[in-house]
Amino acid sequence: MKVLVISDIHANLTALETVLEDAGDYDAVWCLGDLVGYGPDPNECIEVVQTLPNLKCLIGNHDQAALGLIPLERFNMDAHQAAAWTQNVLTEENSGFLYDLPELIEVERFVLSHGSPRNPMWEYILDPFVADRNFDFMQHDFALVGHSHLPLIFSRKPEEDVAINIPVLAQQPVTLEPQMILNPGSVGQPRDLDRRASYAILDLAELTWQLHRVEYNFSSVQLRILEAGLPERQALRLSAGW
Ligand code: ZN
Repeated sequence: MKVLVISDIHANLTALETVLEDAGDYDAVWCLGDLVGYGPDPNECIEVVQTLPNLKCLIGNHDQAALGLIPLERFNMDAHQAAAWTQNVLTEENSGFLYDLPELIEVERFVLSHGSPRNPMWEYILDPFVADRNFDFMQHDFALVGHSHLPLIFSRKPEEDVAINIPVLAQQPVTLEPQMILNPGSVGQPRDLDRRASYAILDLAELTWQLHRVEYNFSSVQLRILEAGLPERQALRLSAGW
């Protein structure tokens, strides 16, 4: 079974549609949260995600903000403005879809969370130290996370007690071995200075993880961001991936 793993779509419909086309055949989709926030197409993205096959989908911190579940003061100015804009445009039905999403999903040997297994909504796993604390906490062999918008893999072998950061290259499959924390990067707002949309294919039979990057028409998204009156910075960053 092939699972398309996506995260941090951030209301970027063009990137989402390009990823879905580029991914080819898959049996299931696991979405790690932040469907909305920053971008101009929150309703459209939610409506597309809902139709994906065998969907497992988490709520992210920006989704919670768009529902008014967390104070917008927790965000920087741009994210705050975008969240307030999103609150205004979200339809009742689409808000309801976000509201029902869980913070944590456990499936077979995997635990899925937006931030980290021990702090699903807010913790960023960016370095081996924080990965280590999460390995100590995890009950599963593998954790899938988003939130940082960076494609990353951390690994810790059972006989060792220090996590390491494994380099991730697009198109090169990595064989999964206990224990690993894997991040597919961001569909709609990559932050590793590579503007291409990021996603992963998880092959549950072969136990492999393959990162993919794909160019999309980011200038059309930039136009919609400006037309919507969203912060200009959110348009600029899509050109360079920061
Ligand atoms: Zn995000």
